[in-house]
Amino acid sequence: MSEGRTPLVYLVGAGPGDPGLLTLRAVECLGLADLVVYDRLLSPRILDFARPTAERIGIESLPGPQPARWPRIHQIIVEAARAGKVVVRLKGGDPLIFGRGTEEADALREAGIPYEFVPGITAAQAAASYAEIPLTHRACASAIALITGHENPTKPESSLDWSLLARFPGTLLLYMAMARLDLVAHVLLDNGKSPDTPAAVIQNASTGQQITRTTTLAKLEQMVRDEGLAAPAIVMIGPVVNFRPPASWFENKPLFGKRVLVTRPRHQAADMQRRLEQLGAITYLLPAVEIVDPPDWAPVDAAVARLAEFHWLVFTSANGVTQFFKRLLALGHDLRALGKVRIAVIGPVTAEELKSMRLIPDLAPGSFRSEELAAELKQRVAGKRVLLARADRGRDLLRQELSQVAAVEQVAVYSQIDAINTHSDVLHALSRGEIGYVTLSSSNIARAFLSALDETARSRIQQGAVALVSISPVTSEAIREAGFPVTIEAKEFTVEGLIAALVAHAESKK
Ligand code: SAH
Repeated sequence: MSEGRTPLVYLVGAGPGDPGLLTLRAVECLGLADLVVYDRLLSPRILDFARPTAERIGIESLPGPQPARWPRIHQIIVEAARAGKVVVRLKGGDPLIFGRGTEEADALREAGIPYEFVPGITAAQAAASYAEIPLTHRACASAIALITGHENPTKPESSLDWSLLARFPGTLLLYMAMARLDLVAHVLLDNGKSPDTPAAVIQNASTGQQITRTTTLAKLEQMVRDEGLAAPAIVMIGPVVNFRPPASWFENKPLFGKRVLVTRPRHQAADMQRRLEQLGAITYLLPAVEIVDPPDWAPVDAAVARLAEFHWLVFTSANGVTQFFKRLLALGHDLRALGKVRIAVIGPVTAEELKSMRLIPDLAPGSFRSEELAAELKQRVAGKRVLLARADRGRDLLRQELSQVAAVEQVAVYSQIDAINTHSDVLHALSRGEIGYVTLSSSNIARAFLSALDETARSRIQQGAVALVSISPVTSEAIREAGFPVTIEAKEFTVEGLIAALVAHAESKK
């Protein structure tokens, strides 16, 4: 729902690629949208900020070349707004810098549809910060010019005065210039700009794919050809380029440029992806399993009705906690239904989830394995009644161990289902050799993922071209059983521990 249902269309800047560079306002608007119409975005992760139910239309999917699509885009937006939908029109960078924001606003105004603009971080700013080249500098650059390199500079109808730009006393920032860079460089040189003027190309700024190269104006075109640089890139020309350190703070990140696959259930993946991105990685998402309600709640409901009879309630995963309390509330209870029952959890993440319910576990063994939890619990539950809330599949060790000394009832509060779509683009990327690391954060995930691979992907992993990163020895065992090698194993059996092991591995290879 919109804020009072007006305005109906938000023309939003999505920033240069890094989802962290979205503005708070952009995230608010995405959260309101019924329809998101987006240009080619450097990170599909930006669309994760829209509600799952929001319709998404990529303009790349519309027929015809760019200009032919424009009236169609206007039509889609206007029709949706007229139907009462909240529309976010998402554009790379800033909508009013080479973004056709004005033309779309005109179309909306003509149609009598209210709109708002939300500025975004433009590519030149991202290039500056993430490659560490200042846009201005007190010593040598007191002005900046944002220039389109899209026009043919040798054509008389070019709207740019290149003789003036050649004399511009500051930093030149060229957008969309890669296809005509030879012409642009020549026209600047012909108009008297010094061949020694420092120049930089920043490709895919602010993403893990960022490439920065520096040279001089005279050698610019040659360098771009030699290095195979391509759009999207910003070309910076001016003395500010000399202020760049050998590698920027961003390019020095431990996972910079590493391509990492996340296989966790979608609702648990975003935090992990964000964490990896902050370390410089390029992330891919392919949930190997998803969490769904158990096929039958009746056993859970019956156990909840008799909660007072149990001495201990045991959770072996964060999902177990979430699902158990979801059901408790759905049955019309609140936390008081727990009465005096004591609570045990496996692992710090499960304990955290419990804390988010305002509950502190009575027992949370420092270790993350059922073996240890079982050993510690066994001493406490002898002769008592225990309720085990868990997945409908998985290891049975805890129940077996506890049953030796206590009356154990086990209920399934969720099911884990295999979720891999074998036609997914991500699997193709893996087979093509695009992905360097696959993170596997449970044995079920490992089994589901590894059984979905095609021959090419299997042999890439077996040859060590793709590293499998395991969260724990139990997961590693599942990986080896499926016939694959484990390259990296976490020392602490949490997602944080897994990421730490990945970082340590990447650093050791530097
Ligand atoms: N409205 C956008 C610009 C759109 S024009 C903005 O404000 O940034 C498209 C051009 O933007 C590309 O050809 C390239 O020159 C530049 N660009 C967009 N994202 C970029 C990025 N992440 N890194 C480098 N250049 C980028």
